[in-house]
Amino acid sequence: MALRRGTFKLYPTKKVNAVLHYHRKLHKDLYNAAVSNRITSYKKFGKTVSYFEQQNCLPDFKDVWTEYKVINSQALQATLKRVDFAFQRFFKGLGAYPKFKSIRHYSGWTYPSFTGWKVHSNGDNGYLELAKIGQIQMRGKARLWGHPKALDIVHRHGEWYASIILEIDDTLLKNSRPSENGTIAIDLGCNDAIAWTNGEENGLVRAPRFLRSSEQKNKQLGKAKRRKRAPNFKKKIKASRRWKKTQNQVSKLNRKVANQRQDFVHQETTRIISGNSTVVTEKLEVKKMSAKAKKGKRKRQKTGLNKSILDVGMGMIKDALKAKLSDIDGLFVEVPTRKVKPSQTCPKCRHQEKKTLDQRTHVCNNCGYTQQRDIASAEVMLLWYSNNLQGLGTNLLDVDDSSSISPTRKTAGTMKQLGRVKRQKPQLTDGDVETPSSTK
Ligand SMILES: [Zn+2]
Repeated sequence: MALRRGTFKLYPTKKVNAVLHYHRKLHKDLYNAAVSNRITSYKKFGKTVSYFEQQNCLPDFKDVWTEYKVINSQALQATLKRVDFAFQRFFKGLGAYPKFKSIRHYSGWTYPSFTGWKVHSNGDNGYLELAKIGQIQMRGKARLWGHPKALDIVHRHGEWYASIILEIDDTLLKNSRPSENGTIAIDLGCNDAIAWTNGEENGLVRAPRFLRSSEQKNKQLGKAKRRKRAPNFKKKIKASRRWKKTQNQVSKLNRKVANQRQDFVHQETTRIISGNSTVVTEKLEVKKMSAKAKKGKRKRQKTGLNKSILDVGMGMIKDALKAKLSDIDGLFVEVPTRKVKPSQTCPKCRHQEKKTLDQRTHVCNNCGYTQQRDIASAEVMLLWYSNNLQGLGTNLLDVDDSSSISPTRKTAGTMKQLGRVKRQKPQLTDGDVETPSSTK
């Protein structure tokens, strides 16, 4: 059994909408109370409060604050768990010290199990029934439908959403995507987002310029915003209505760019997966690659390159590929770039020669093989994979095979798994082969 998420937009009536907002506020207050409880008991008594201590207080808490009696008790526990996650994250050095949250920054709440709610749907629209809140129309489509396990109610950009965790049958999952046993190597780049080869055919996908094309509009809005009264918390200045209005336009524009990019990523990765169950690609560290240049005359140039890297969404493409491959029990292979040097090697004769960044064509000085630069490096990766893993001949450049099979990250999970799984990404070393396996 695998766990997947399905997200639906909610259309509550006016009355239900008010109740939803009220519940969100109660959850927010509980969150802040729990944070405050931890802080004060540590500062005053030097005592660390654990999640279970707080959970055990809930019944007494509800006796005093009777308004919390309308809320599902497991949902209340889940909110306390959020506080616990925030502190655990801080203790591990992964996050900042937990803050008090304003209602604006409080997204919603969680039903960690299948109690307190019902869903009437088969994956295509339907309606949601929340205990003590009411019935809500749902719109949207889940790619696959299964047994509902947990639910998040999320309020974002003035709209309500239901994110349902579904337990999905393995065979259903596997049959949901066309799977053929091809092998493809892809090279992710800035000018051409994806260069691919499967040994016989090659192709290039032009990089989208979503961020670049919205840049001018973004600048205009930034200018417009500067002419309006911005909020200043310390000086107790409230934002003007016109400032807020412009700010809404800015966030709408950013949202649009993000959606466009996500759409691009999904379309392209689906196309790569259909027909191939093994994907070979370069190991890249987007975070390091897109780190800001500290100083020097190359600073501007680097900023421009960073924009291109992030605009293509290289990290997103890889994550989407991994997730989709895990559905069909496929293989995701990362080539150790530093050892193999795909962009400097000739795929025909393996002669190595350095190229500068602006050299877009591979012309071999040794054998004369000519190919588009990125396609050539994809060909090298494919060659490395077929030599290295299938035992056909010797390794390219005697790469030592440090491959190990590591467990993959689960894509969605219940409350228990959330803290453990979501925060930690597996640390892969050079040449790791990841065998995506579905969540059992
Ligand atoms: Zn050559």
